[in-house]
Amino acid sequence: MAFIFLIVLAFKTLTIPYIKGKSCDFISLSALARNFGFKTEITDTTLNLWSGTEKILINPKDLSYNGKVKGSLKCLKINSENAYLDAESAIYIASILKGKYYYWDEKKHRVIESAYTPSIKSIRVNDDWIKIVHNIDLEPEVTGEDTIVKIIVPYGFYFGPPYIFFDDVAFPVREIEITYSAKGTVFTIKLRKKCGFQTKSLTGIFTLKLITSNSENKEQNIKTKKETENNKKEHFVHNKIDIMVIDPGHGGEDPGAVSKRGTKEKDIVLSIAKKVAKKLRKNGFKVILTRDKDVFLTLGERARIANRSKCDLFVSIHANYSRGNRAHGVETYFLSEAKTKWERSVAAFENSVIKYEIKDTVGERNILKWILGDMAQNEFLRESQDLAAFVQESIVKKTGCLDRGVKQAGFFVLKGVYAPSILIETGFITNPKEEKKLKSKKYQEKLAEGIVRGILKYKRYYERKYGKH
Ligand SMILES: [Zn+2]
Repeated sequence: MAFIFLIVLAFKTLTIPYIKGKSCDFISLSALARNFGFKTEITDTTLNLWSGTEKILINPKDLSYNGKVKGSLKCLKINSENAYLDAESAIYIASILKGKYYYWDEKKHRVIESAYTPSIKSIRVNDDWIKIVHNIDLEPEVTGEDTIVKIIVPYGFYFGPPYIFFDDVAFPVREIEITYSAKGTVFTIKLRKKCGFQTKSLTGIFTLKLITSNSENKEQNIKTKKETENNKKEHFVHNKIDIMVIDPGHGGEDPGAVSKRGTKEKDIVLSIAKKVAKKLRKNGFKVILTRDKDVFLTLGERARIANRSKCDLFVSIHANYSRGNRAHGVETYFLSEAKTKWERSVAAFENSVIKYEIKDTVGERNILKWILGDMAQNEFLRESQDLAAFVQESIVKKTGCLDRGVKQAGFFVLKGVYAPSILIETGFITNPKEEKKLKSKKYQEKLAEGIVRGILKYKRYYERKYGKH
């Protein structure tokens, strides 16, 4: 009895005007603003909502909160007067702006406010598994067939975007829809092709392992992979640093930054990356380049190459852009929330490759990779920061260029990588002097030497710190 009593107290319901649609309920932007006290603005390309200093920005592509991408909308309809969001996304937005746990009750078309912190902490998705981290008293169940698998978590509450879409056709999971029923939270996982599955429950972690036809043949592989995944951190700590992924930014139809004189970032960084790879190999590293010619790669593909190689470090190489022609110097980034306007603008530019990626996907219902990386990089924050510091210092020392420092921002490309990762902006191709240097083989050689020395220094530091096992 006491339990039931508590539940009554812990949940409140609210009503808000909604419109019944074919596949979901809609809430208008103005109704959302009125009921939750938000300010709104509709521009040609975005919808903005504010609550005090908290800001949500929605474009057809994604939904970002204070500059950080949070998810994609399930549905958005705009006419000349108002915008209509699917109710689940609308209520999710209200939750983040208000710092509360609101859920849309599909059956009774109302908002439920929960006083509990969510009992389902996260959902993580990889090439061949889906993990749900939850309170230990919950027992997820699985039902499903063919290409649709449902994970039901009785009495479980999840807080996050209601819809996640994976655009990469090589990725087995196409989309995940999150709904709430009287029973609890339901994760509906839609797969690109038929998969078998196995489940495993460990204290607070539920794993759904997908078995595709190629993985069945590789039992041994699965076993080793499983062990590594279950012990990501240990795997990382126990190993020496010897597998490197070097990622030359952009490529193919995406030129990256382009100078007034037509120098393209994609060409410069490929050339530097090849030099870095060569030098690292000389130093005994196994090196994988995400691209070794002028081809287009999605940001998701880059992360996947990194994870498949089980790399110890991931280094993405870029060249910088500014509006004027004076900015110059090197800066090295690790993945974390941007703190300054400049950091945000650099990340926005490097992330803008997404616009080339979505043309292959299903229109408005877009990308979301953020969950993939959401947890991944947190584990490596400290290491990434250290690596960034070593590499930045060493480049500046070797080239004598201006030290713009170690910075942090939300780069998509770093998000999905299970290893310490950095992104180097090697210089500004918009500054004529620096552009000339960046184009010269001699300077590229110096930059590469600087990068490699930084990595070597980090390797020594790291292996001394954690010991060799
Ligand atoms: Zn770039």
